[in-house]
Amino acid sequence: VALERIQALEPKLHSFLCVTAERALEQAQQVDAKIAAGEEISILTGIPIGIKDNLCTKGIPTTCASRILENFVPPYESTVTQKLADAGAVMVGKTNLDEFAMGGSTENSAFKLTANPWDLSRVPGGSSGGSAAAVAAGECVVSLGSDTGGSIRQPASFCGVVGMKPTYGLVSRYGLVAFASSLDQIGPFARTVEDAAILLKAIAGYDSKDSTSLKVEIPDYTANLKPELPKGKLRIGVIKETFGEGLDSQVEEAVNKAIKQLKELGAEIQEISCPRFRYGLPSYYIIAPSEASANLARYDGVKYGYRAPDADNLISMYARTRATGFGTEVKRRIMIGTYTLSAGYYDAYYLKAQKIRTLIKEDFEKAFEKVDVLVCPTAPTTAFKAGEKTSDPLSMYLIDLMTIPANLAGLPGISIPCGFDNNGLPIGLQLISNVLREDQLFQVAYAYE
Ligand code: GLN
Repeated sequence: VALERIQALEPKLHSFLCVTAERALEQAQQVDAKIAAGEEISILTGIPIGIKDNLCTKGIPTTCASRILENFVPPYESTVTQKLADAGAVMVGKTNLDEFAMGGSTENSAFKLTANPWDLSRVPGGSSGGSAAAVAAGECVVSLGSDTGGSIRQPASFCGVVGMKPTYGLVSRYGLVAFASSLDQIGPFARTVEDAAILLKAIAGYDSKDSTSLKVEIPDYTANLKPELPKGKLRIGVIKETFGEGLDSQVEEAVNKAIKQLKELGAEIQEISCPRFRYGLPSYYIIAPSEASANLARYDGVKYGYRAPDADNLISMYARTRATGFGTEVKRRIMIGTYTLSAGYYDAYYLKAQKIRTLIKEDFEKAFEKVDVLVCPTAPTTAFKAGEKTSDPLSMYLIDLMTIPANLAGLPGISIPCGFDNNGLPIGLQLISNVLREDQLFQVAYAYE
């Protein structure tokens, strides 16, 4: 069914960079055989899944939507995709993204533009726009994305699906092509909170191949999913600073209505101030490009990927490969990052950004002394028209205002649909919890859903 839908919808949606139909059918047949033989199967057996194309898949191209990796076929498998394959999930293809996950609309892909299934003239959000659109349109049941500054939660909000960024270190990043290593996390997209909880359980857990991986027990995230919240026991804090200027009035209205509903479900609601929240955006746009400039140094035309032809020496080969292989936004970030890390500017920019990061963490720590879960909009607006922000990178960066702080602090966050605007476009509600309290996020999200 998923493959049929892909065939029917892809000409309009372009969620996938590559569809692995043959391999998927083969796997599906194996699943059928298993079931026929009465073998035990897992909850994910036979479930069609889309994988963001910055996750390495052995023998299947992994391009990061970049010319520089156009012909790259990884010789190894990422931990998350291996875990899903072991659980019997069937990958139907690799989904489109902003080049190297840098962007908020999937328009920075070097290969195609993905449309928002709710309105084809609008963007699906980004950078995991392909994964979000594919789930929203039923081209797969669930999918994986990566979130460095909002790239799972924001497209989930724009496409009307559930998207979740786990605690930093909960899910192994082995085989995820690095953008900003101290911020990157892999997480699930699904149509329901329960499906997202099931998928997270399947991909989470310690991995010796990722040095930042946490050694923790993975709970059953579905255990606490009830239609109501324990009366007066769950304290939810509304982040004051995320309301007001810049927030679309229809988004504000829908989020306020959702907060009221959470109260009716049994939560105790209070207002919380995170005064340093708004400095998250400028500090992120120093830290992320700094790390990216270091991580992307490996694409030099020597080891793998694209190599520019007709260079006459090594230096010009490097230069031409990078000049023609990377897109505009990636080059912009490499330049910003190289600048902010260079001698003389390091203290003024990078170090200062790191200090702000610590202050934002403190804001959250204080907040979690008073409440269990924080709530705010996922994005200040609903999906915008394709092309609307492409000539103005700053306006594109501004959409990340509310998602970035959770990445800077390593906290888990989830976006769930909470209504529609007057154009019929979905609106997202964001919940953020303390480190490793994914269980509480799912609990509140499920009760609301
Ligand atoms: N939009 C943000 C950026 O461009 C976030 C990207 C992400 O989370 N991968 O950096």
